Amino acid sequence: MKRILVTGGAGFIGSHLCERLLDEGNDVISLDNYFTGSKSNIIHLMNNKFFEVVRHDVTMPFFAEVDEIYNLACPASPIHYQINGIKTIKTSVMGAINMLGLAKRKKAKILQASTSEIYGDPKVHPQPESYWGNVNTLGPRACYDEGKRCAETLFMNYLEQTNARIKIIRIFNTYGPRMHPNDGRVVSNFIIQALKNQDITIYGTGNQSRSFQYVDDLVEGMIRMMNTPDEFHGPVNIGNPYEFTILELAQKVIELTNSKSKLIFMPLPQDDPTQRQPDISLAKEKLGGWEPKIQLEEGLLKTIDYFKRTLNFT
Ligand code: NAD
Ligand code: UDP
Repeated sequence: MKRILVTGGAGFIGSHLCERLLDEGNDVISLDNYFTGSKSNIIHLMNNKFFEVVRHDVTMPFFAEVDEIYNLACPASPIHYQINGIKTIKTSVMGAINMLGLAKRKKAKILQASTSEIYGDPKVHPQPESYWGNVNTLGPRACYDEGKRCAETLFMNYLEQTNARIKIIRIFNTYGPRMHPNDGRVVSNFIIQALKNQDITIYGTGNQSRSFQYVDDLVEGMIRMMNTPDEFHGPVNIGNPYEFTILELAQKVIELTNSKSKLIFMPLPQDDPTQRQPDISLAKEKLGGWEPKIQLEEGLLKTIDYFKRTLNFT
């Protein structure tokens, strides 16, 4: 039985990861300050004697006997990470330092949940791991993008200077049950608007593209990455290469919910990337042929069902 720490364990992705790790018979600690996460995301796991819940902020040191650390603590949606940009940077950077220090002392493996945002508004398409990115250091997304870039740098410095057992994954847009209903991300926004027959808010022309993966595919990729040999550190892109425009997503959500919603067009937020698609060749090669299994329609139906149940739609 492995002792595994998941920071951000009460968040959208963290809660699915905790669930899967417990299902596999591990001893799991969720560490979270509940900024964007919620106990309701993990309440169904609390009867499990091998699940511990800790309220803690990763910007402060934390000590525990653990074998593996998944470092997910950080608000992920633009609305939330822009509320307090300084805190977002502290969470990424000081959180990484604190968790790397713990990993070093315990000789634990540590996986960093990095992001496709480190590619910024990419000039190379699709994005391979070798691409250095195109990030505005001064823009509204910079607190998140630069915080995550610095965390990657810290991971590499800990590897070089202390031989820490590090892994880095770059997560592309992910969706599924337990997304925060008010975090303004496109999948949750569109589904909730469609279920309420409200206008669907398209930012800009809607011709910007994204590639969305269902959360179960991501969790599978994360665990496979943690289990790769110590010599392999990444970074590795984890995402679904199936790319579509935001307009196409809106039309698909309307179709799947039988909604009467109409599209309305609103200003595009500053520095909103125009396109994003992962090159997942490295993940396929290094993670035992990993690739996304859940196609958009299937994943959207599961997510629609979740929001119907939790927001009490019939
Ligand atoms: P989320 O906001 O649902 O989860 C983040 C969790 O971290 C929350 O439970 C929050 O309360 C917690 N947290 C925030 N600041 C903290 C702090 N200082 N100390 C302790 N806990 C703190 O977001 P998510 O979508 O589950 O994202 C999880 C991770 O994956 C994040 O690191 C994010 O950057 C990364 N990621 C997510 C996506 C995506 O599409 N969802 C894409 C790329 C990367
Ligand atoms: N978006 C939109 N309407 C919304 C929410 C988002 O058109 O109600 C757009 C947003 O401008 C971006 C895309 O959808 O181009 C994805 O946004 P999200 O915040 O989900 O992810 P990110 O921009 O971080 O990839």
